[in-house]
Amino acid sequence: MSAKMLNDLSRLCIHTITTKPWSIEEAAIHYSKAGVKGISVWRDALHNRSIRGVATMLREHDLKVVSLCRGGFFPALDLQKRINQIDENKRAIEEAHELGAPLVVLVCGSDTEQSLEDSRKQIRDGIEAIVGEAAAAGVRLAIEPLHPMYADTRSAINTLAQANALAEVINSPTVGVAIDVYHVWWDPTLEFEIKRSGENRHLFAFHICDWNVPTTDLLNDRGIMGEGCIPVNKIRSWVEATGFEGFYEVEIFSNKYWQQDQSEFLKKIIKAYKENS
Ligand code: ZN
Repeated sequence: MSAKMLNDLSRLCIHTITTKPWSIEEAAIHYSKAGVKGISVWRDALHNRSIRGVATMLREHDLKVVSLCRGGFFPALDLQKRINQIDENKRAIEEAHELGAPLVVLVCGSDTEQSLEDSRKQIRDGIEAIVGEAAAAGVRLAIEPLHPMYADTRSAINTLAQANALAEVINSPTVGVAIDVYHVWWDPTLEFEIKRSGENRHLFAFHICDWNVPTTDLLNDRGIMGEGCIPVNKIRSWVEATGFEGFYEVEIFSNKYWQQDQSEFLKKIIKAYKENS
């Protein structure tokens, strides 16, 4: 991708969690004014709102909904909990459909009461239990591998190789992967696995941010692209090489930036996007 294409922001998407202090209405106004074209929506941002109303509002701001975050959390030792989660995922699919989001991102889950192998089996069962609903609603599902530091409670799917293998075994055009540089940048097989995602038409989403050195919080200390040690440009070039034509979704969970002026933060994101994405 040329610098010019990045300069026009036509593929820049921002996840609402990035500017958490803003309501979705405020985010829409500010993103739109800044020339951002895509928005990914955290389900909490829809709380107490008419989803169709939000969909209309986003359209009026010329923002394309890229994904709804998040579904998943399938594994649990307790059967009833697993059943409840499947229902919860079906609700997420319905919400995505109403919002006009073409994709639900899956943070797959993990339960320390049982083995990782059992959690992985339940993740597959859980996705297979909802894939029919998703396909009928015209909503795709993206398995997002999470950094291994989250293998305890957030996800038993920790590498892109695992996510690819899972998408391949489920073997549905509705199920693919989301690649978040924060989770996979360290992986020596990353280039190969990105190529594999592309060849299997499984590459549904690409999330960008940076890994701060040192990282002070395992969840909420992500950096803006260029601030840390992730070779975002290099990874993007591998994603581009697959023919990926989707958005670059900025997803920055940051206690530090959430305490600052969000308009200034947005300016920094856009500058960094142009320079380092
Ligand atoms: Zn992500």
